[in-house]
Amino acid sequence: MVDAAINHTAVDVKAPEGRPSDYFGRKVFGRAAMRKYLDRKTYEALLDTMEHRTPLTLEVADGIAAGMRQWALEHGADHYTHWFQPLTGGTAEKHDAFAEPDGVGGVLEEFSGKLLVQQESDASSFPNGGIRNTFEARGYSAWDPASPAFIVDTTLCIPTVFIAYTGEALDYKVPLLRSLSAVDKAATEVCRYFDKNVERVYAYLGWEQEYFLVDESLWAARPDLMLTGRTLMGHESAKNQQMEDHYFGAIPARVIAFMKDLEYECLKLGIPVKARHNEVAPNQFELAPVYEEANLANDHNQLLMTIMDKIARRHKFRVLLHEKPFKGINGSGKHNNLSLGTDTGVNLFGPGKTATENLQFITFLVNVISAVYKHNGLLKASIMSATNAHRLGANEAPPAIISTFLGSQVSAVLDKLEASSGDDAIRFDAKNVFKMSGISHIPALLLDNTDRNRTSPFAFTGNRFEFRAVGSSDNCAEAMITFNAALANELTEFRRNVDAKIEGGMKKEKAIYEELKEMIRACKAIRFDGNGYSDEWKEEAARRGLDCETSTPLIFDRYLDERSVEMFAATGVYSKVELEARTEVKWETYTKKIQIEGRVLGDLAMNHIVPTASRYEAMLLDKVFKMSQIPGLNASADIELIKKIQGHTAEIQRLTGEMIEARKHANPIEDQRAKAIAYHDTVAVFFDQIRYHIDKLEEIVDDQIWPLPKYRELLFLR
Ligand code: ADP
Ligand code: MG
Repeated sequence: MVDAAINHTAVDVKAPEGRPSDYFGRKVFGRAAMRKYLDRKTYEALLDTMEHRTPLTLEVADGIAAGMRQWALEHGADHYTHWFQPLTGGTAEKHDAFAEPDGVGGVLEEFSGKLLVQQESDASSFPNGGIRNTFEARGYSAWDPASPAFIVDTTLCIPTVFIAYTGEALDYKVPLLRSLSAVDKAATEVCRYFDKNVERVYAYLGWEQEYFLVDESLWAARPDLMLTGRTLMGHESAKNQQMEDHYFGAIPARVIAFMKDLEYECLKLGIPVKARHNEVAPNQFELAPVYEEANLANDHNQLLMTIMDKIARRHKFRVLLHEKPFKGINGSGKHNNLSLGTDTGVNLFGPGKTATENLQFITFLVNVISAVYKHNGLLKASIMSATNAHRLGANEAPPAIISTFLGSQVSAVLDKLEASSGDDAIRFDAKNVFKMSGISHIPALLLDNTDRNRTSPFAFTGNRFEFRAVGSSDNCAEAMITFNAALANELTEFRRNVDAKIEGGMKKEKAIYEELKEMIRACKAIRFDGNGYSDEWKEEAARRGLDCETSTPLIFDRYLDERSVEMFAATGVYSKVELEARTEVKWETYTKKIQIEGRVLGDLAMNHIVPTASRYEAMLLDKVFKMSQIPGLNASADIELIKKIQGHTAEIQRLTGEMIEARKHANPIEDQRAKAIAYHDTVAVFFDQIRYHIDKLEEIVDDQIWPLPKYRELLFLR
């Protein structure tokens, strides 16, 4: 039992001034602000850059910087920063004051186009996987005009990419932008089979962010939560989620106050938040915005994670973004809802009304599942991490296998297409309008497709795909980069094959149909509509040849497979050097996380748990001794308890010692991959074993002296 000062009353939140439409985007240098603060010529040049990626001249950049500075100062900013997304996860910023000495004893607010557009950064201390050593510590950050600047507190934040001087990406934004451009190009070319007017294809992302909240004072009494983001020990609460009473239940008053505060901040920052609700586990919640263009959506998710943390503190909470903060109840993910749309307003993942529209829909759908099939191991690598590994592959969670769910209607369409023969499937009527049996009329009912499969890691949900395996603490870009690149590559190959058939004299629709048929046949193994959490599926998936690897360091190998390297090179998304550097960072990050967890667990076991259990044991020994002085008393139950405690504390000490030995062996390994494997195979294996004994002790040691808040105390916010 922990004596913590918990504040049960909700923090008073000042009601927002006006309606959301009044304050939405107030802290963003968006189009309205641009029009107001930039002269016409500068404004138009900037729009051109935003829409067509034309390079900015320094003159235009100076004009933009002047307007932006003016706007920022009027909105209370006194500093500016390039805001970027290094491979540490999270975002990085270094604030500089606008004020510069004017040389005559005063200061002036300065901000030039040069400072806006590009800055040199001594970033040798950011993870770079060896691309940069300390002798060549220069990198630079460069403005991404596609994502507008915004103000947090009193700092103007300028979204930027982060690149090595030699040109390699050191962040998530550069490859994301490259992948968006690859998918735009490849998808546009395929769209032109169906509509010559299409000039651009945009990728959209709608994330759903799951998270836990815990009381700040209880959090502060749990060193494991503070240092690793998850509980390394803790016996399950008698009641957790079995009553299914939390999901969509009434939101506690303290939490509602936090959510309102958070949403107000989000809306001012232009993040179009929409849905909020309780999730399945106690203290677990979700927030989802309206989907946006993927680059902007991803910046918004990164920004959200930062401000969530800040607002939570205001409400005496801590937000837990870890994928599995508590054992025995659901973990948190970040569903990435994704779709492609044309500049003519067509959602390429949504069924249409005519045969042509539906052939286009099926074309994109089949290309998606084929790309997911060919790169299923790589897609898994894109979402895997030391933290997400607890969610995927652990016994209570989805398995570490990527498959797609299409639903009965779409599956039936594909089956029919596959089984049909060209002559009866493809017809042209008297006016030469193309007809196709089976897919001319795909019911629009799909849009509210009800038989959604919640166990599928990659589900088609009527007008979009939902990649559910992404971790709650992840940068969504990692998954989006891989998916976009794989899809772009697939669409390019599709186009090449169809063109070859057309050149061979086949009619366009027939050529597309024949190509799709081949693809549907080839990628069948990826389609699975059953229960993804069942043991049978694990066996079945292995038989189908899907990637079933569960060891995180080995899963990262997929980035360096020849097939992956070729695909990333062909789409221009990653060079081989970048892939090598990034996997290096992944292995290193993995090792560090396990190393920290191992240390925290060892400390807690030896400094908190064993001494507490020994104290209780001594009390019992004392009691037993005293009882023996009085004839007729039977102390056998207490003696049994003492033996149990003795057994568990002895095991904890032995296992902790062995774990420390294993770390000593792993630490000198120089090769990052080998070191990560050693940590995975020889260090992390002790965690559950040690925890088992600690959790047993928690059940028998006097609650009055137990040093850590228990699950039942942490998990039920009122
Ligand atoms: P659920 O929890 O049932 O999956 P939600 O409504 O909570 O659904 O979340 C759906 C998410 O999908 C939202 O972020 C929404 O903006 C997004 N979304 C909806 N349509 C699309 C689309 N065409 N492309 C991408 N994202 C979409
Ligand atoms: Mg969803």
